[in-house]
Amino acid sequence: MQRMVVTGGAGFIGSHLCDRLLADGHEVLAVDNFITGDRRNIEGALRHPSFRLLEHDVSRPLFVEGPVHTVFHLASPASPADYLAHPIQTLKVGSLGTHNTLGLARAKGAAYFLASTSEVYGDPLQHPQREDYWGNVNPVGPRGVYDEAKRFGEAMAMAYHRTHGIRVRLGRFFNTYGPRMRLGDGRVVPAFLEQALRGIPLTVHGDGEQTRSFCYVDDLVEGIVRLAACGESGPVNLGNPREMTILEFARKILAATGSRSALVHGERMVDDPRVRRPDIGRARTLLGWEPRVPLEEGLVPTVAYFRARIAEGA
Ligand code: NAD
Ligand code: UDP
Repeated sequence: MQRMVVTGGAGFIGSHLCDRLLADGHEVLAVDNFITGDRRNIEGALRHPSFRLLEHDVSRPLFVEGPVHTVFHLASPASPADYLAHPIQTLKVGSLGTHNTLGLARAKGAAYFLASTSEVYGDPLQHPQREDYWGNVNPVGPRGVYDEAKRFGEAMAMAYHRTHGIRVRLGRFFNTYGPRMRLGDGRVVPAFLEQALRGIPLTVHGDGEQTRSFCYVDDLVEGIVRLAACGESGPVNLGNPREMTILEFARKILAATGSRSALVHGERMVDDPRVRRPDIGRARTLLGWEPRVPLEEGLVPTVAYFRARIAEGA
């Protein structure tokens, strides 16, 4: 049994990672300040004897008693609506938070896993995106607060690796979905599901021809666990290479919910990436990993989750 620290452990992906680490027999300390997280995500984990929660803002120095095997740094607002609402906190958690948690890893002789993102590629000029593509990011646009914080985080993690020999893993997550996404967090999956289930129009930004590739959360968590265990320090894309337009995705949501909602077009978001699809060649080779859950299958528990949340008046 090893002791793991998961920042952002009360968030969507972080809570699933905590559950998986507990199921694998580890001790887990989740650190979260609940800026976008939800205590209900960790209701089950809180009943587990090997789970602890520390309510703390990791942009402030972080001290933890006892040994730590790996620090998983997932804390950060992740939905565009969230990071547009919290631009300074987003910059701080990606920079100061990464620095503080790297310091924790260094003090404990622990490995370090950074939750990075496909947003480091910005509005990409290379398609699909490979890890050796440096990206096309607007530093002064509204998304810059997230994209640049994550890029800084990667640079900081690599500096700790090169300077202090910290075993660093950089997971570049692409769009991920599943139960425990926050209703109303503004991302396309909760937005379309809520609209479809309430029978109101689905709000397509722009012409809906922009593309995304959606990965089910269990597949992502498997990728995180494998990457954390491997000896690779460079960035590794973790995502589902099945790409579709947002219009196609809207139709999938209507089919999965049996909804007859209309589609309405609104403004395109500023700097919204026009295409996004991971090249997962490195993950396949290094980790023997690829997603297993098709979108139609992953939407079943996701729809059930949102149905239940809406029924309880969330
Ligand atoms: P989320 O908003 O559900 O979870 C983030 C968690 O971090 C929340 O519980 C929040 O309260 C916590 N947090 C934020 N700032 C904090 C701080 N200063 N101190 C302590 N806790 C803090 O988002 P998510 O979708 O679970 O994303 C998790 C991580 O994965 C993020 O780092 C995100 O950038 C990355 N990521 C997610 C996706 C995706 O599709 N979900 C894609 C790429 C990258
Ligand atoms: N989107 C949309 N309607 C919504 C929410 C999002 O058309 O109600 C679009 C958004 O403009 C983007 C895509 O869906 O092109 C994915 O958006 P999301 O917020 O999920 O995350 P992103 O991939 O942009 O980080």
